[in-house]
Amino acid sequence: MIADKVEAAPVRAHVERLIELGMTKAEIARAAGVNRGRITLLLTGYPGNREVDYTETSGAERIMAVDCSTIELESPWKAQASCSTETAQIIATQYGAAEPLDLFYPPTELDPETAELYHLAAVALCDSCPVAAQCDDYAAARPETFGIWAGVDRQETT
Ligand code: SF4
Repeated sequence: MIADKVEAAPVRAHVERLIELGMTKAEIARAAGVNRGRITLLLTGYPGNREVDYTETSGAERIMAVDCSTIELESPWKAQASCSTETAQIIATQYGAAEPLDLFYPPTELDPETAELYHLAAVALCDSCPVAAQCDDYAAARPETFGIWAGVDRQETT
């Protein structure tokens, strides 16, 4: 136990469960009032595959309080999406990522060449995704301002 921190493992397990139930990382972050990068860090750990052991208490409590059943899940199409976190991480590894990362929310410190490679890989996945139209409508309506949705980098559109 570290002051103002709690064990990260149960929080990570809760996030993974919420994702299984259909929430995106952005939705979880928004519902918990934490930075989206914090959700990514919990899931993928520090560079070099070093897992997060402890996480800040108040954010952890808010994440644990996120209940998928109390949030309007108006997007059953997500069950058919081609971009599960697992898929995105596997593809990133195939494209040469040294550690698991989410192609659709890539780290900001990537060199331009690698960033472009990952971007193209994500767009290719979107191109063959059966629910791209629903995804595009969903991202535009919220609007999403981070990540790649339906082949479009939403940061570039804001
Ligand atoms: S269009 Fe792309 S971002 Fe949207 S659900 Fe499909 S794979 Fe995911």
